[in-house]
Amino acid sequence: MKYASPMMRSYDVVIVGGAIMGSSAAWFLTDSADFDGSILVVERDPSYEFASTSHTNSCMRQQFSNELNIRISQFAAEFVRDFRSFMGGDPDVPDLAVNHFGYMYLADDDDFAAVLRQNQLTQEAFGAGTKIMSAAEIKAAYPFYNVEDIICGSHNLVDEGYFDGGTMFEWWRRKARQNGAEYLANEVVDVSVAHNQVESVTLATGETVSCGTLINASGPRSVEVAKLAGFTLPVEPRKRYTFIFDAADKLDQTLPLTIDPSGVHVRDDGGAYLAGCPPDVDTAVAYDDFAMDPDVWEDKVWPALANRIPAFERIKVQTRWAGHYAYNTVDHNVVVGPHPEVNNFVFMNGFSGHGLQQSPAMGRGVSELVAHGSYQTLDLSSLGYERILANVPFVETAII
Ligand SMILES: Cc1cc2nc3c(=O)[nH]c(=O)nc-3n(C[C@H](O)[C@H](O)[C@H](O)COP(=O)(O)OP(=O)(O)OC[C@H]3O[C@@H](n4cnc5c(N)ncnc54)[C@H](O)[C@@H]3O)c2cc1C
Repeated sequence: MKYASPMMRSYDVVIVGGAIMGSSAAWFLTDSADFDGSILVVERDPSYEFASTSHTNSCMRQQFSNELNIRISQFAAEFVRDFRSFMGGDPDVPDLAVNHFGYMYLADDDDFAAVLRQNQLTQEAFGAGTKIMSAAEIKAAYPFYNVEDIICGSHNLVDEGYFDGGTMFEWWRRKARQNGAEYLANEVVDVSVAHNQVESVTLATGETVSCGTLINASGPRSVEVAKLAGFTLPVEPRKRYTFIFDAADKLDQTLPLTIDPSGVHVRDDGGAYLAGCPPDVDTAVAYDDFAMDPDVWEDKVWPALANRIPAFERIKVQTRWAGHYAYNTVDHNVVVGPHPEVNNFVFMNGFSGHGLQQSPAMGRGVSELVAHGSYQTLDLSSLGYERILANVPFVETAII
């Protein structure tokens, strides 16, 4: 990779990582009437080949158990629905493709059924359209499922399903650049902190760039960037497998994003289908380990699919990939906001499997922090770094 040099030696904001989070922060900042500073986005791999953003399944859901996560996703739904007007009404900005097939969580034991019922009450209280369905109701609505072992499911067809996060990312990057943010192919290899302030970053090419605020948007590697500043961050890369497959016997209706009790999930993918799962042994992996387990499809995914949806006895994999979650081992949720002492170091890390849908609320929130010193719309403080220091998990039971 040939790295470039920055145009200036000092920026108001340096963003480490230019994928969906870094670009969301960059775009919201350049769009803010209350911020007119300079922005440098440093990206070590502008092809984004290994970024979580390039390996995503690109879905959003209202089915969380915590009000704040529900509100964060509700803003995603609003942002996606009114994408062009949020992007300033530019007629070149496309409508974002969406498919509200909903998530279908299936419970085959009483404990998980109780969790789904409790979560449905919370979701309904905050305006989500989630319904609990009995096995018979699921079978009536979606006859292709085998529901013999199923107690109930929870399902929501409002603002829940696939959305085109890739196009959202492209436009954030494009517009942030047009608005003056500088994207630089380079790597942040050191961070200098003095008197409880980040003073500068050092690039792989040797230049030192001073900054008013540093935003850590470096995905699974965010622990390394935090370390450069002297902080610990409980985030590690965890592998997740995805398969796109074709079925000889296609379903005659749209397949919701089905969370099977086996841990395999599957959804419609525009004529084909997408399935995914974690490895059986789910531990931290090397940053460059994207190897597929050669047996996981035959041994785990296909049997689970054929059991739940008998029409999937005859299916053929078209594409497969492994991607990394930036997995927060404390509570699987984002760490966002300033370090309590070095308050010009801003975290945007640890999104696990729900970062794409959280990116609009995260970019907006971080831009408010930089421009105003505090959140102006949705208060994200309970997702801050303080809880990590205190080791008090943010409670969210609906994790995939
Ligand atoms: C298989 C899979 C399925 C998923 N499905 C969904 C889903 O359905 N819905 C959902 O909402 N979310 C989903 N996610 C999660 C979502 O994709 C991620 O949370 C999100 O993409 C994270 O974006 P990011 O910008 O934080 O990280 P990344 O996309 O990983 O970007 C970080 C960037 O930082 C750069 N970088 C790292 N270190 C440095 C450095 N020192 N200097 C410069 N640059 C650096 C990297 O090169 C990289 O481009 C899924 C993730 C995976 C892996």
